[in-house]
Amino acid sequence: MKKHHIETLIPKEDVRDRIRELGAEITRFYKEKGAENLVVIGLLRGSFMFMADLVRSIDIPLEIDFMTASSYGNSMETSHDVKINKDLDGDIYHRHVLIVEDIIDTGCTLQKIREILQLREPASLQICTLLDKPFRREVEVPVKWAGFPIPDEFVVGYGIDYAQYYRNLDYIGKVVIEE
Ligand code: 5GP
Repeated sequence: MKKHHIETLIPKEDVRDRIRELGAEITRFYKEKGAENLVVIGLLRGSFMFMADLVRSIDIPLEIDFMTASSYGNSMETSHDVKINKDLDGDIYHRHVLIVEDIIDTGCTLQKIREILQLREPASLQICTLLDKPFRREVEVPVKWAGFPIPDEFVVGYGIDYAQYYRNLDYIGKVVIEE
């Protein structure tokens, strides 16, 4: 790890409030759709904290499942090589599926995961991300709900890591490298 410090980008109160709003919007959307239940899929490891808070704000019967995909390794550099390391435990055929992601950058990870899950013929497939870097997008991904658009900074906290550290921060911070 390079010498660095963390600066607050989104304070914990803002994260908490926004997640409650997202939960309410998601609940409304699926109720209007007439969905009786849904499967919420968290992409590990980054989404674990967001997922835990988000599902507590969704007021519809739901199941949870997890998938692990890797694209970054331990560095701050992006890589377009997306690998599925752990697949879902359950079946999503004809189910309403909500994918929960920590952050969308180039869009490559989610595009790949969407492709894989679409083949299993869910009744619907939507994406909710806590953070979105819209200016970094290289492939189009239909994101239904995004918590916060953020600038092109390397962020940590609230589940998101730098070399596996900082996932436990209860706010979103940015990594400032000290030259
Ligand atoms: P994408 O495939 O959209 O380029 O990248 C998505 C994944 O890249 C995220 O799930 C996350 O693991 C990682 N990522 C993108 N931006 C950041 C960032 O600012 N900080 C960290 N720690 N990971 C990031």
